[in-house]
Amino acid sequence: MILYASTRFNEHVTPPGHPERPERSDVLDAIAARWSARGADVAAPRAATRDQLLRVHDAEHLRRIAETAGRATALDPDTYTSPESYEIALLAAGAVVDAVERVMGHSHRAAFALVRPPGHHAERNRAMGFCLFNNVAVAAAHARALGAGKVAIVDYDVHHGNGTQHIFEADPAVLYVSTHQYPYYPGTGAAGEIGRERGRGFTINLPLEVGAVDEDYQVAFARVVVPVLRQFEPDLLMISAGFDAHERDPLGGMRVTTPAFAAMTSELRAVAEECCRGRIVAAVEGGYDLQALGASLDAAIESLSGDPKRPQWPSSGVASTRGQASVAQLGPCLSPYWTL
Ligand SMILES: [Zn+2]
Repeated sequence: MILYASTRFNEHVTPPGHPERPERSDVLDAIAARWSARGADVAAPRAATRDQLLRVHDAEHLRRIAETAGRATALDPDTYTSPESYEIALLAAGAVVDAVERVMGHSHRAAFALVRPPGHHAERNRAMGFCLFNNVAVAAAHARALGAGKVAIVDYDVHHGNGTQHIFEADPAVLYVSTHQYPYYPGTGAAGEIGRERGRGFTINLPLEVGAVDEDYQVAFARVVVPVLRQFEPDLLMISAGFDAHERDPLGGMRVTTPAFAAMTSELRAVAEECCRGRIVAAVEGGYDLQALGASLDAAIESLSGDPKRPQWPSSGVASTRGQASVAQLGPCLSPYWTL
């Protein structure tokens, strides 16, 4: 197991009271220190290169973000930069790229990039929703360039990853699967959004009504996420690991508990063991309650390290009505493509 962390992530400072506040970096650093003491490798990231970024972003976007260097700006109503953010965003994307290189190069089976800013809202040509570069998309494209025939990205952040979906929606070599609160920011992620052109069927959205509990996620994983991943047989499995569906999160409206994040991550680890010799790379997206973020990240890292663990889903005692409704909505859209 290798983790990526950098004290420099602290320098991507956002306005007081902003959810993406610098204290998030302190949580990530504390986790890296704890896991280092437990024997995990911890690496400092290097910057993503222009060529790596250009696989998923256009040159105009790179120019706009580079222009923020040395300045404090607001790129949209949610997305701020400090003078250091450009360099730090390059490190965040570079950390996930390096994680992919190590896992594809077999030096490590699993890697977790403890990065900020997050990435999954960043579009090909636009920063959005606290995200400057789409870290996971840049790294998925890098994995393809290194020879991975098929890459699967599972996004359990409470928000839909509009950027990742749009970047790969016409590409059958990259499967994007998202569970998210819906309707909610950023507005995309309906069940009927299944990709386009040759990529039809390779975008899978599991929209969940606000208030979803562990059982709803368990149903989504058992009925859709895991069966589709098994049929897709990725060469690399990536996780957009956001923890803002946690019951304590101030932004999300879901009721997911810390053990459920461990269970979701263990389910994905099991698929990776089965399909791609355990190759799995996760990167932090959202998660705005610092206590919940720390505990859930610890649980997720635990699920990816050491011997594979059987997924242990907690029981909240609440029926999975939201999960069942989401799966039922999806069936007709996906039946031409997958056996569910
Ligand atoms: Zn989020």
